[in-house]
Amino acid sequence: MDGSLNREAQDLLGSARALVEELAEEGVDRFDEVPAPAVTTAAPETSAPAATSRPAESEPTRGPVVERPAEPPPIFAEPAPLGLAFEATWGPNPTLDDVRTALGDCTRCKLHEKRRTIVFGDGNPDADLMFVGEGPGENEDAQGLPFVGRAGELLTQMIEKGLGIARADTYICNIVKCRPPENRTPLPNEVSTCRPYLDGQIDAVRPKVIVALGKPAASLLLGRDVPITRVRGTWHEYRGIPLMPTLHPAYVLRQYTQEVRRDVWNDLKAALERTRS
Ligand code: URA
Repeated sequence: MDGSLNREAQDLLGSARALVEELAEEGVDRFDEVPAPAVTTAAPETSAPAATSRPAESEPTRGPVVERPAEPPPIFAEPAPLGLAFEATWGPNPTLDDVRTALGDCTRCKLHEKRRTIVFGDGNPDADLMFVGEGPGENEDAQGLPFVGRAGELLTQMIEKGLGIARADTYICNIVKCRPPENRTPLPNEVSTCRPYLDGQIDAVRPKVIVALGKPAASLLLGRDVPITRVRGTWHEYRGIPLMPTLHPAYVLRQYTQEVRRDVWNDLKAALERTRS
């Protein structure tokens, strides 16, 4: 096969893989039984297995059926306006130190049991550009810094070589501050327990633009379960701050195609331009 055909085949394979991942994100894991679109009033499902988001089991029909409005899972609750996240805990204009002190040696969720280090965040406390990932991995847990493993190296390269700014001029953190065992997706209760500290970090840094890296961060900040491949590259807002969801660098490493790299590159460029407009 000549070089260009080979590249085209690789790109096609990458796109097919991305499509399968996208369908998997939407709950399709078998292709002989693609479910019809569900007509349901249930709350949007979270990205993690959540007992609270399962639709109710059918009950014997006795008497009139009373429709109860579906409660969104707590991680998708309305966020507080900027500056008012946890006024009682750290006041309206917290510093990162205030938020870190309030977090303390956290044992609020089960993630503390297996973590080595709390990975709070890293970078410029006055950054214009803030990146929010999913949760620390093994290297981050060992070093106490976000995005320092393979995915982190790629993120750093994209920031420094791609955008031409120093990583230290941005602020980088995650939706949960402790490593989920085996790098699993954080559970809804872990995300909602940690969310006040992310909101506090946002109140402290007040970035001009937030970039959500991957589905869990994008879903939390958009307030609904989103397929990342659909929402990436489109502008949203989180607590009044422009929000750009993009693919997680770990996904880029797995799907190292020109198309995926170009998509992320375009998203990051748009985010940087917006900080300068
Ligand atoms: N992946 C993340 O989402 N965050 C990190 O800090 C490292 C890897």
